[in-house]
Amino acid sequence: MSNEVRVRFAPSPTGALHIGGVRTALYNYLFTRKHGGKMILRIEDTDQTRYVEGAEDYIKEALKWTGIVPDEGPEQGGPYGPYRQSERKAMYGQYAQQLVDAGHAYYAFDTPEELDAMRERLKAARVKSPQYNSVTRMDMTNSLTLPEDEVKARIEKGEPYVVRLKVPRKEEVRLQDLVRGWVMVRSEDIDDKVILKSDGMPTYHLANVVDDHLMKITHVIRGEEWLPSAPLHVLLYKFLGWEDTMPRFAHLPLLLKPDGNGKLSKRDAEKHGFPIFPLDWTDHNTGEKVAGFREGGYLADATMNFLAFLGWNPGTTQEIFSLEELIEAFTVERIGKSGTKFDINKAQWFNQQYLKQKSGQELAPYLIESAKKANIEVSAEQAAAICELMKERVTFPHDFWTQGGYFFVTPERYEEKVVRKKWTATAVEVLLAFAEELKQVADQALDGDQIKELLNKVLEAKGIGMGKVMQPLRLAATGVGGGPDLMPVLAFLGPNTLAQRIEHAVKLLGAGKDS
Ligand code: GLU
Repeated sequence: MSNEVRVRFAPSPTGALHIGGVRTALYNYLFTRKHGGKMILRIEDTDQTRYVEGAEDYIKEALKWTGIVPDEGPEQGGPYGPYRQSERKAMYGQYAQQLVDAGHAYYAFDTPEELDAMRERLKAARVKSPQYNSVTRMDMTNSLTLPEDEVKARIEKGEPYVVRLKVPRKEEVRLQDLVRGWVMVRSEDIDDKVILKSDGMPTYHLANVVDDHLMKITHVIRGEEWLPSAPLHVLLYKFLGWEDTMPRFAHLPLLLKPDGNGKLSKRDAEKHGFPIFPLDWTDHNTGEKVAGFREGGYLADATMNFLAFLGWNPGTTQEIFSLEELIEAFTVERIGKSGTKFDINKAQWFNQQYLKQKSGQELAPYLIESAKKANIEVSAEQAAAICELMKERVTFPHDFWTQGGYFFVTPERYEEKVVRKKWTATAVEVLLAFAEELKQVADQALDGDQIKELLNKVLEAKGIGMGKVMQPLRLAATGVGGGPDLMPVLAFLGPNTLAQRIEHAVKLLGAGKDS
């Protein structure tokens, strides 16, 4: 066997892929790329009752957005396909049979009523977690309790049955998790899980183990919610005779609510208004909608950087990592054991950093596109200049327009607090005089320094300091009290527009009062 690292991302198409799933995909990807290995995308769709239309496409689109490209999968194909479990149906039965033949599994014919009755009985006897296991199985209708010929007859008659794993009575099941170290579970705490359903379809456990084996998976990296299943999987490997090539396990820490109290949920996302899914999604069955990082204006590379840090850290103070740098720095040893708080502010911080790193030219399309929606045409050159001015202050690409619309549209409203505090008669007097000066040079293109010079001239003539006028000037020009460096903004507007805006503001806000 070669030593090639092979990992898989194995989502079930049961709805929108949670952002935690994206983190799982990312960690698998970083790990395998670091080791020069392969990443497999496997669609785990054996549970037809939970199948949701469009969910597989959603998974693929989400991965495309993130830049995670599987080496093998339903789209890519590969030597171990098919990569969709529903297309592998025929493969699983023989392994269930192998387990039955070896005495590690058995047929169970119990009806739902019989199963309910068993649970009720155990509850009445105050058994903490009533389950089908090494003790109770002997009171049930299965191939361990029925005579062999009756079992045969029932099967031949077409009576429905499931195959259950025969979990040993008292055994310690151990596994060495790469994140958590040794995990030990007593077999009496594991129930006799159904591995093959009455429709002949495998359950998650059987399909997952069989496929990991057949696809030569070397490392299973998945969310902590699967840790309780791991001992059962270890038993399956053992009973199927595959212990020698059993993959190594790494269970990733849970994503917690922003306050750290419990598991992150859809409700938290709704309550706080942040996304926990990569893309927007509408459930075809329920019509329910969820919001995505992508549509919310989070950049894919910033989101990956954010996710990389949800459960891992490089052990240094560096926070900004490209995907390539993450691959280089990533080690399983630095994955944390304890749950990690989902802090959307951090995601926004990463977004800001990534936007800031880009040039005005790279950012320009964002502004052009938003402006177009408002029927305003912005040239690439103008957009690049504005984005360059604003990029230090935006969190999302759409902010260029929502915060910088004034570059194109005369404000009709003015930030009230600033008006109240700064719109004084003195300021208005200076502004109107300044407007007159601007009109003299109306057709010239002035740069920021020249505009400032002109303003200084007016201030000197009136004997008034710059401090009294800067904010009212910004307010008149942009409608708001804060923003990027003012002189370049004014230069962008040009003397004519600026003069008009000053007069417009005075018209709407009045002459002001000195207090
Ligand atoms: N199909 C499982 C899921 O939806 C896969 C768990 C695993 O990686 O083993 O997450």
